[in-house]
Amino acid sequence: MSNLVAIVGRPNVGKSTLFNRLTKSRRAIVNDEAGTTRDRQYGLCEWCGRDFSVVDTGGWVVNSEDIFEEEINRQVAIAIEEADVIMFVVDVMSGITDLDLHVAQILRSAKKPVILVANKVDTFDLQYQAAEFYGLGLGDPYIMSAINGLGSGELLDRLVEYLKPDSNEQLEELPRFAVVGRPNAGKSSIINAFIGEDRHIVTDIAGTTRDSIYARYNKFGHDFYLVDTAGIRKKAKVNEDIEYYSVIRAIRAIENSDVCILMIDATRGIESQDLNIFSLIQKNRKGLVVCVNKWDLIESKTPKDIKRYEDAIRERLAPFTDFPIIFTSALTKQRIYKVVETAIEVYENKKRKISTAKLNEFFLPLIENYPPPAYKGKYIKIKYVSQLPDTQVPTFVFFANLPQYIKQPYMRFLENKLRETWEFHGTPVLLFPRQK
Ligand code: GDP
Ligand code: GDP
Repeated sequence: MSNLVAIVGRPNVGKSTLFNRLTKSRRAIVNDEAGTTRDRQYGLCEWCGRDFSVVDTGGWVVNSEDIFEEEINRQVAIAIEEADVIMFVVDVMSGITDLDLHVAQILRSAKKPVILVANKVDTFDLQYQAAEFYGLGLGDPYIMSAINGLGSGELLDRLVEYLKPDSNEQLEELPRFAVVGRPNAGKSSIINAFIGEDRHIVTDIAGTTRDSIYARYNKFGHDFYLVDTAGIRKKAKVNEDIEYYSVIRAIRAIENSDVCILMIDATRGIESQDLNIFSLIQKNRKGLVVCVNKWDLIESKTPKDIKRYEDAIRERLAPFTDFPIIFTSALTKQRIYKVVETAIEVYENKKRKISTAKLNEFFLPLIENYPPPAYKGKYIKIKYVSQLPDTQVPTFVFFANLPQYIKQPYMRFLENKLRETWEFHGTPVLLFPRQK
């Protein structure tokens, strides 16, 4: 289970600039497709070989100058509850403000490591001004310029010291599913429907702490883990009406799963919060099954209506459209079995290995007939295709003489052909051109 770092602070201190700085390098490495603005609040960071996720809780609150104390309270509360390390950002240009004092007071009693970051120290001579933040009672501030990067190395070194070891819970090699979705979509209901009356089949794994987020199921002839059922049970405790509560919750569940079951409320259709969660699933490269739940409440269910629903969902989630959609009712237990069955299939697709011989047999003639467009008069030849071993998602490498000239549309064409030929429904796949 990986660590979650939350950035808190009042508006305009530079939280999102810091967030961008922390997550930028990693983004470049993983070669993310056109990052969307809604990804702003959540990213992955790597420092000294440690991977962790970062959330900018400010991204979820109304970020105006006249922020209510209440909103910052929520921001800090969720950070304290969910994060492993909290970065509290203050602004050296404006000095200590009342809101800073207020936040510091809450954080002082938090039982989580807090790193005080004095931001906007763009030059070393500003560092003396940062000394006043010692008065917040959170130790010495780390000076930082989120804009030019000054101080970021020391800050990250410190941060990494605070991270908990990535726990390697001894799980069996079984599919791990996360049920995610916005509040009231029916997550707890569908989990209860999985369990049925046989509550005893939910066994907390022996020897794990209350932090364990896995519950093992044996149901419908399948063995699997459900992730973060504790988080779902815990729901009553916190106010899930607020978007970022449920989104931060979802982050953990998603990160620790293989396949995500994304619950959508049929009576509401896809809204921005669904898109947020979907983008978390994509960013983490997890398998996906979409459940359009509360299907019992929909009156007209002709094949045409169903098609319209499916098209609308795929359109909203494009360009990734190759995933199963199931119309469920957690209430009447309609197609509950199908959900588990399909999630297992997606899990298997995600683990699928295609032999080099088969790949080349299929792709080489295809590529010969539809070669990548020449670039500046240079012919591009793909000589050889193979799947990398030991990857989280199926990853294919296309060895070429001039890989840098192969454009995205052509790679998409290859991906579509791959998906048409082999079963990768519901799982992301990666295709890279590489130097021979
Ligand atoms: P947030 O509201 O806390 O997320 O703050 P932003 O990241 O949006 O930054 C608020 C303003 O402060 C923007 O105009 C940033 O360009 C500026 N800013 C952020 N970090 C720095 C910094 O290190 N130095 C300076 N001079 N300005 C910064
Ligand atoms: P969660 O917040 O995503 O865990 O959602 P819940 O499982 O708590 O469900 C929220 C509300 O929707 C509850 O009142 C459920 O009884 C209701 N609900 C959940 N699934 C269905 C369904 O398939 N059909 C109908 N009609 N109601 C449902």
